Amino acid sequence: MPQKTKTTPMMAQYESLKSKYSDAFLFFRLGDFYELFNEDATRAAQILEITLTSRNKNADDPIPMCGVPYHSASSYIKVLIEHGYKVAIAEQMEDPKQAKGMVERDVIQVITPGTYMNDEVGMQENNYIAALSHQENWQFAYSDIGTGEVKVTTLTDEDSVITEFSQISANELLVADNVPDAFINQLENVHAFTRSQYDGELTALSTEFKQAITDEGERNILQLLISYVDTIQPHAIDHWQQPEHYEVSHYLHMDYYAKKNLELTQSVLKEKKSGSLLHFLNHTETAMGSRLLKQWLDRPLISKAGIIQRQNQVEALIDYYFSRMEIKEQLHGVYDLERLVAKVAMGTVNPRELIQLKTSLAKLPYLIEELETIDNKSGTWKNILNQLETVPEIVDLIERAINPEAKPQLKDGNVIRDGFNEQLDTYREAMHNGKNWIANLQAEERQKTGINSLKIGYNKVFGYYIEVTKTNLHLLEEGRYERKQTLTNAERFITPELKEVENTILEAEEHSLSLEYQLFTQVREQVKEAKASLQRIAQGVAQIDVIQSFAEVSERHQFTRPEILTDKRDIHLVASRHPVVEGVIGKHQFVPNDINMPEDTGILMITGPNMSGKSTYMRQLGLIVIMAQMGLFVPAKEAKLPIFDQIFTRIGAADDLLAGQSTFMVEMMEANHALQQATDNSLLLFDELGRGTSTYDGIALAQAILEYIHANFQCKVLFSTHYHELVTLEEHLPRLKNIHVGATEEDGELVFLHKIFVGPTDKSYGIQVAQLAGLPQSLIQNAQHILIDLENKQDIEDRPEQLSLFKPDVQPVSSELLNNEKEVINDLKSLTLDDMSPREAFRYLDQ
Ligand code: ADP
Repeated sequence: MPQKTKTTPMMAQYESLKSKYSDAFLFFRLGDFYELFNEDATRAAQILEITLTSRNKNADDPIPMCGVPYHSASSYIKVLIEHGYKVAIAEQMEDPKQAKGMVERDVIQVITPGTYMNDEVGMQENNYIAALSHQENWQFAYSDIGTGEVKVTTLTDEDSVITEFSQISANELLVADNVPDAFINQLENVHAFTRSQYDGELTALSTEFKQAITDEGERNILQLLISYVDTIQPHAIDHWQQPEHYEVSHYLHMDYYAKKNLELTQSVLKEKKSGSLLHFLNHTETAMGSRLLKQWLDRPLISKAGIIQRQNQVEALIDYYFSRMEIKEQLHGVYDLERLVAKVAMGTVNPRELIQLKTSLAKLPYLIEELETIDNKSGTWKNILNQLETVPEIVDLIERAINPEAKPQLKDGNVIRDGFNEQLDTYREAMHNGKNWIANLQAEERQKTGINSLKIGYNKVFGYYIEVTKTNLHLLEEGRYERKQTLTNAERFITPELKEVENTILEAEEHSLSLEYQLFTQVREQVKEAKASLQRIAQGVAQIDVIQSFAEVSERHQFTRPEILTDKRDIHLVASRHPVVEGVIGKHQFVPNDINMPEDTGILMITGPNMSGKSTYMRQLGLIVIMAQMGLFVPAKEAKLPIFDQIFTRIGAADDLLAGQSTFMVEMMEANHALQQATDNSLLLFDELGRGTSTYDGIALAQAILEYIHANFQCKVLFSTHYHELVTLEEHLPRLKNIHVGATEEDGELVFLHKIFVGPTDKSYGIQVAQLAGLPQSLIQNAQHILIDLENKQDIEDRPEQLSLFKPDVQPVSSELLNNEKEVINDLKSLTLDDMSPREAFRYLDQ
């Protein structure tokens, strides 16, 4: 083995810290830089695109090294965090000048993807760290360090864990020992995150925490999370709010796939936020509102009272337009209260942010006044008004104390306003006047002594002095001037007056900064005392913002308040639209459709050519149900809806290849999941179920699933298919109804009407769709011949055994029929309707 150069004490210190934080990049403070060494350095240099150098270059084994200036470190840290890494910050724990020997260094915090707090306030999204343990059930907790929100629940199955975890898009998961590795791998397939473990000492839980959370398992996972966060980010938990226990069963349940397929927060194809329902709905004015909107979208309500309360509030804001505009205007000036309060509590708030807090709080009286006006007329805003208060003492305190022009950094001084503190004012006056006093004193001395070259100067060692050239020394009054320093040509003196002025000035400079710091801390602590009120206010404001955003979209897009039915399970939508698709293709292009599923209709079988709008129609219903249960209005002329407990989807999407499973396997798993979990109150959206296998298999399974649902559930199902064999099911399944999306042919070309009609479609138009897609004409013609051949050959007796079940229902399509049809169509086309009376037309149709 080659001989290693002897490790220096500093490198030994580095190595010992690094060994404790092996899963993080160690930023090792050396003077004005954070240095990284060895493996850390090579990787960081690459990721951060900074120069890789080395320590003791000329040695046999130079140590790779790179560094970033400490004052710009945050931007580098951000990049590493965004790549999913952790960063441990090792600071100098003593002043290097005072240190005897090696400067002591220690890691003061570890920044991780789930605990990273961007310095900017006003993040549109939460950054969550989650924690998971598995004791009989699954215990799941999460927190946003930046806002202090803490939630915990118990989940019964793996699917729910996947759903909850992916829903909050946590960037980091703290995994308890009892969680199987295989399950973590499964989670990783769904959503990328940084995995963490903690085996240090456990922080004791406060009585408040214990009171809030009664379940033992939930307490344990919270304790693990708190201990971990407390270790890596001291003070972060100081501002944590009371943890909140929640039950997934109290909200409309949608699993991960349903959310993804319905494109609630991301569009499937581009994985972008635009094109999602969230993006479409978001007209919030504040970052808090934007975060709360996402939370409401993730958890629509199932309680009628809750839905009605939000609807009433939305309606009131639509009715009182001018009040709403005023509210919007006020909200516009509200900063991220939640984050600001968190920063106050953690002691990291800067002067400028305190001003932002004040500006925001100063809007409250106006907001409250407007809401009270609306509430007086409509009686709908009590619950939120109860959460709000004006906190004049806080506004006044910040107003009096903090200079609105203060620089963001405390050390720049000039943070506290004149007039707030007498002592500080005296210091400032001294600093300001000091220069004048010195100038005056110099003039006086010159006059008194008659020495025109006399001057008053300053140096660090002796402070202020009066300097007189040697030739003029005899002019000085005996006894008044105390000698301080002798130069070649001059002597320096002080006088009692000069000493006094000097004291005042120096004291002023020195003390004013520390006094400002002290005063600032006092103000901050006083604000912190109001933490609980401020957090409540922040939540109230966030709710107002989401509701005004609801009112805004509802009005802009002519949404209707849905009637929520609890006595019957009836879906009744007149001229409903898919809000997002309509937004993309334009209001005038989008064809509105009714969706009717009275009590006695459980299944709508949707047929129609590919690309005609089947899946849009299905998703439309899914979105409308979600919007309605969020308390939002819906895109339709009339709307009546029951409350659903769960939505399941089987809509083919890009995930099908997930984890190497075949499309068909995924389809069947999702179908199984829905059949296992659905209740009579669920909504099932099955798009082209069974297409992942051969035709006969597909038809057989689709039919069997439909029959199973029909026999066992009262739930509502939308089922689209291109197997028209299935349309005959209507004959023996009384709760199944056929509908189809219309299409016509014009001059041999397929035209989509996007309109839903009652009854089954007659053709599949597959080849026409292929033609529309631009496949070569010769290929299309060949396909048409093949089709006719196939249809001629198709004989029901040849079908596999399982189809005999529904043999009588399936009619072979013969080419003769096809020719007849053509004749009829040609006849119909040759008619000139304008020349016919209605009676004639009817007769013709009858014929
Ligand atoms: P399918 O599921 O039948 O294959 P899609 O629902 O995917 O068809 O719709 C195909 C395209 O047709 C959509 O991208 C959309 O542009 C358009 N479309 C769907 N529904 C409508 C509608 N009601 N009005 C206008 N265009 C629509």
